[in-house]
Amino acid sequence: MKFGFDIDDTLLNLREHAFRVYNVKLNRQVGIEVFQALKTIPIHDAFGLSAEEGKELWNLHRDEIYYSAPPFDQAVEVLQELDRQGHEIYYVTARTAVHCARTKDALVIAGFPVHEERFYCGMADAEKVHILRKLDLDYYFDDKPAVLETLSELDMRVYAKDNPYNTHLDLPRIVNWSELLEIANNSWQGLSDDSMTIE
Ligand SMILES: [Mg+2]
Repeated sequence: MKFGFDIDDTLLNLREHAFRVYNVKLNRQVGIEVFQALKTIPIHDAFGLSAEEGKELWNLHRDEIYYSAPPFDQAVEVLQELDRQGHEIYYVTARTAVHCARTKDALVIAGFPVHEERFYCGMADAEKVHILRKLDLDYYFDDKPAVLETLSELDMRVYAKDNPYNTHLDLPRIVNWSELLEIANNSWQGLSDDSMTIE
């Protein structure tokens, strides 16, 4: 099977990491519960910053945040296992072109199974749908409503990586990556039973 993954806030815990970095940079101690209550992708509200100030802070520390954000629990282990089982793993990230090579290297260093020809980077959110259509994936995982909302016409199983800002989407969701092994196993069974209709 072919599995596709967004990176930021799907495989990497980017926002929460950015929240921790901002606390350090701003010499603040905003509690994690403030972060957890945020319903927006941007996190500047937690620090009482305007959108413009938030953007400035993000631009200032983006590189540090990108390349030090940790994977979500079990993400590396589960993708390694899928790779061992012979599944194809694709990465599809809207990080800008200047970050593509470093991002791929960082995934490898973190332990993710990366094949050179299965790493797609540098497209706009709205362009992801076109790339995903060409890849002809069986499964795709993303966190962002602006992306997820464009994928309903594709013949592919789309999951939301559960985040407070996407709970309104009527999609199956992944809370912990350990759930994915069961999904993959069920889909193998579905194939061997010649039943393609399991959901
Ligand atoms: Mg994302």
